[in-house]
Amino acid sequence: MRALRSNVRHFSLLLAIASLLASAASARPQSDSIFGPLPVFEFHSGFWLNLHHTLYREAKLRTNPPASSSADSAAAKSSAELLQSPSTALPPLTTAELRIWTDAVNYYAAHFADHDLLFSNDLIILKDQLGDFEDCDELSGAKRKSCDAGLPPQLTHILESAGAVYRAHTWPVHDRANRRWIARVAPLVREQGLGLSERLASIYQAKWPKPKIRVDISAYANWAGAYTTLDPLRVTISSLDPRNQDTAALEVLFHEASHGIAEPVEQAIVRECRQRDKAIPRDLWHALVSYTTGELIYTAMTPDNSISPPDNSVPGGGASPYAIREGLYARGWDDYLPLLTRFWQPYLDGHASFDDAIARMVSSL
Ligand SMILES: [Zn+2]
Repeated sequence: MRALRSNVRHFSLLLAIASLLASAASARPQSDSIFGPLPVFEFHSGFWLNLHHTLYREAKLRTNPPASSSADSAAAKSSAELLQSPSTALPPLTTAELRIWTDAVNYYAAHFADHDLLFSNDLIILKDQLGDFEDCDELSGAKRKSCDAGLPPQLTHILESAGAVYRAHTWPVHDRANRRWIARVAPLVREQGLGLSERLASIYQAKWPKPKIRVDISAYANWAGAYTTLDPLRVTISSLDPRNQDTAALEVLFHEASHGIAEPVEQAIVRECRQRDKAIPRDLWHALVSYTTGELIYTAMTPDNSISPPDNSVPGGGASPYAIREGLYARGWDDYLPLLTRFWQPYLDGHASFDDAIARMVSSL
């Protein structure tokens, strides 16, 4: 899944050179795209990264339209929604702008739409690179040498052209949504961030990363609404996704960051399975991370446990653990929930050791 094709390797080399230029660029004074100072996380609302996810989403809609509508109508509907929403009070697209935008979506459809944002090396590298160049108003370096992102020329041209359309019609709305999301979660991060990060690190018997974790807030992310890529550890969260709002915002933030530190759990599960000659259960560690984050955030939000259990019949209502509310356990993880409540919860409550909890879960599989 991570094999590099030769064109990707070439692309990566260009990007490696460009990231040297980027680190020079990052020495500039604190930019407008970064929010802070907050503990644990560093939030960004970056122009190019948002454009990239917007194009990717539209290309996906075009190539895999919802079952009920044809490709053309899905794409047309999404363009209309995305770029000409009446609520934005922005001018409608001219014919020339629509052509530029359509060309960019076509490029994304042809090159990226069948690659996964989480698993494709070239998409991960591209996303990180666009994040690094968020303060540049170009990617070619034509005006400023430090703004040469080192992307293939055709992609640079596509992004710069579509960028002008996006900046004029949609970016103000997306940026506002991103800033609103950050403004809502910031007081919680300020109040609970450090404590939660220390607690999670101790639960997973890991070290929380010293540098603040970069979190890119984007109007759109991937199908899940948020994803995390490693080396470097970076989180991308959709500000518009209804699943990421209110209490779930803090939960999704720590769930995603946990992807960067929960490796000891994964290793312990693998070790126990090998000792018992059992098949390694797919996604048990991920269910465990979802469960743990949910439990922690729920407890943090209701420290005296005085709030009655949330009403799951109300969409998005109540402070329920994200995984349960979104039905993740019912989507293939349902065998894990009884194991987690029976063997992992006692560890969270301080009544069992980490090794015992993992061993008991695995032996009961
Ligand atoms: Zn996850």
